[in-house]
Amino acid sequence: MSKVEDFLTKEEEQEIVQAIIQAERNTSGEIRVHIEEHSEKNHTERTREVFRMLEMENTKLRNGVLIYIAVADRHFEIYGDEGINNNVPTDFWKSTRDAIQNQFKTQNFKQGIINGILQIGKELKEHFPYDEVNDIDELPNEISKGVE
Ligand code: CA
Ligand code: CA
Repeated sequence: MSKVEDFLTKEEEQEIVQAIIQAERNTSGEIRVHIEEHSEKNHTERTREVFRMLEMENTKLRNGVLIYIAVADRHFEIYGDEGINNNVPTDFWKSTRDAIQNQFKTQNFKQGIINGILQIGKELKEHFPYDEVNDIDELPNEISKGVE
């Protein structure tokens, strides 16, 4: 399970997109998932690079969240934009990390990503509530796949 194309089926990818849509009905925050095979760089640094590459800082409230996965490295990161990090406690992402990790350790990758996405929606609800009237889908919900 080290290739991006083998990581999730098309159906699983669609379920993940649906989870993003569902989570974004809880919050004005915008969630994206990026999957790649491997990074030579430090994963935290690479996650920030992907965040910029996907132009995820282009949200009004600076509240985009990226779930980054390097499949061959068996590594994932969660990165939230400065609007979030300026407003939440330091260990804000712990419950989301746990939600993902609990499923990843038994190879349930799809479920881990979905649980993580839904958890992000719940966690952000308090700080960045959904705006029923004015919400815009500021960032695409599709999974991004990439190589360096
Ligand atoms: Ca939105
Ligand atoms: Ca979106």
